[in-house]
Amino acid sequence: MEQRYFTLPRRWAFWSISKPKANKEKLGPDPPEVKIFRILFELGMLPRACCDICGGPGERWGHYERTDCRLPDGRAIRSVPIPRYRCKQHGCFSSLPSFLARYLRYLSCVVDQALLEYAGSQEPVCRILAEDGPSVLTVGRWVRGLLDDGLKPWLENQLERAPALQQAPDLQAPRNGRPSPWQILCLGVQLVRGWNSDYFSPFLQRARLASR
Ligand SMILES: [Zn+2]
Repeated sequence: MEQRYFTLPRRWAFWSISKPKANKEKLGPDPPEVKIFRILFELGMLPRACCDICGGPGERWGHYERTDCRLPDGRAIRSVPIPRYRCKQHGCFSSLPSFLARYLRYLSCVVDQALLEYAGSQEPVCRILAEDGPSVLTVGRWVRGLLDDGLKPWLENQLERAPALQQAPDLQAPRNGRPSPWQILCLGVQLVRGWNSDYFSPFLQRARLASR
């Protein structure tokens, strides 16, 4: 393992930098949080999601299968069932678990790792997660959020409005990191920690859309 700049959730240890040789044809194993999610889904024990618009609880309304969810080495895992809900006023919506993000094929742990490596070093994009797995273009799209000038003031504003979250300990800045992307990453981590979310990349993705 390379040096880490802050402690990630324990399940993070599941993935190390030394990746198995990619075999993109074969399905890979479920990470622990995906296993737990599948069990809760089967048992009907997932917490009910609320409507984004009115905040009211949604009624369960079937599910769809999310295919092409990828591990660090590029292998896909079995499709993941995503529950759908219905708000009587605002129609159907779905709720993604934090290990998945909208539009991104890779699991959130992979995207988090790429953002950490990018913001915490001076490595060019082509050397981020370079062994196997996501392509240079893919990683380039992920890290673009950290270069978004509009995002930082938006995140700072959110943090100011949630004073309790500001007490979360700051991340230790790496010696050779990229200062501005690192600040954005830290703001995202502070906010998601306050909400007990495991991964910050899905939040930064939504924040970027919201800040426009
Ligand atoms: Zn609603």
